[in-house]
Parts: sequence; structure tokens; C-alpha cells
Amino acid sequence: MIDKEKITAAVRLLLEGIGEDPTREGLLDTPERVARMYEEIFGGMDEDAGEHLSKQFSAPGSEIVIEKDISFHSTCEHHLLPFFGKVHIAYIPNGKVAGLSKLPRTVEVFARRPQIQEQMTVQIADAIEQHLQAKGVMVMIEAEHTCMNMRGVKKPGCKTVTTATRGEFKDNVERQRLFMDEVRQWNA
Ligand code: ZN
Repeated sequence: MIDKEKITAAVRLLLEGIGEDPTREGLLDTPERVARMYEEIFGGMDEDAGEHLSKQFSAPGSEIVIEKDISFHSTCEHHLLPFFGKVHIAYIPNGKVAGLSKLPRTVEVFARRPQIQEQMTVQIADAIEQHLQAKGVMVMIEAEHTCMNMRGVKKPGCKTVTTATRGEFKDNVERQRLFMDEVRQWNA
């Protein structure tokens, strides 16, 4: 559970640490405001993807489901700065499909935590494989990291792409290419 009092105290301390005066007017409400915001952007900590993915419909014979351009915002766990972009998901159902809104919900569960992109990619793929018993899954994430844009190497516009494959997508280059083509086609 999120402890807003702890966050408020920590932000006050952080402001003092950078040489600010947390009692000046502009900053007076900032610690509590940040605590409320953290409750939202780290709300995925208390959520289970299985709850969303348990809403299933039978769809016998369905061969592949692709949901792409699911936009997300997450927080890099190394710098506590945002990274954001798009998630593309493909899966091969095993007779059952998830409600269409449930894949974006699943993305939210894992995005709203301190996160690294590679791990988020794997967690989404594992959740879909596990809860839908999908025969195959592929997840691709394209994201921009503000910790690369506004500090360090300072390379705005640079995108990081990560993928994870499970089941029938693993070691099946043709299928992976099909998914990539779909993603690229609709982006063009
Ligand atoms: Zn970072």
C-alpha cells in the first residue's frame, strides 16, 4: 500500500536536499501534491493483471489477435523519471480471448510501478501467456526515456525498442516478422 505520509516527508526532505525552502509559497503544497500523484502513477503496485485478464470470451478458431499502439507512461526505476511510448501486443488464443479493453488495462498494471522497459515487456508477455493460456505471445514496446533526453547522454527523440516472445512466437521468425509488419504498416 502507498504511504502518502512517507512520500510527503520524503519530498520535503528532497527539496531541502537541493537547497530549496519547502516553506516558501510555491512549494508549500508540493510534497502532498506529489504524494497524491504517486498514488496514481504507482497505483499498479496494488493491482493484479490476472483480475483484468480473467474476463474472457470464447472464440474458437481465432488465429491471432493483435492490439497495437497502446500508449503508456511509466517511471524509470533508476532515475524516477518518466518513460513513455507505445505497446504492441499479439497473441494466439487457445479458444479464449480477453475483452479488448483488458490488454490496455494489463499494460497499465505494469506501467504504473517503478519499472524498466525490458522487464515491463516480459511481465506483459508472461501475464497474457499465463492468464489466457495463450498458445503464443509477442510484445513489443517502443519508448522514449526522459532520463536519456534531459540528462546524461541528452539524446531527444531516441527510441528504445524491446520485444518478448512466448510459445508459438518463440523461434518462429516468420510469425515475428508478420507481427512487425502489421505494426509498421499501420504506423506508416
Ligand atoms: Zn532511467
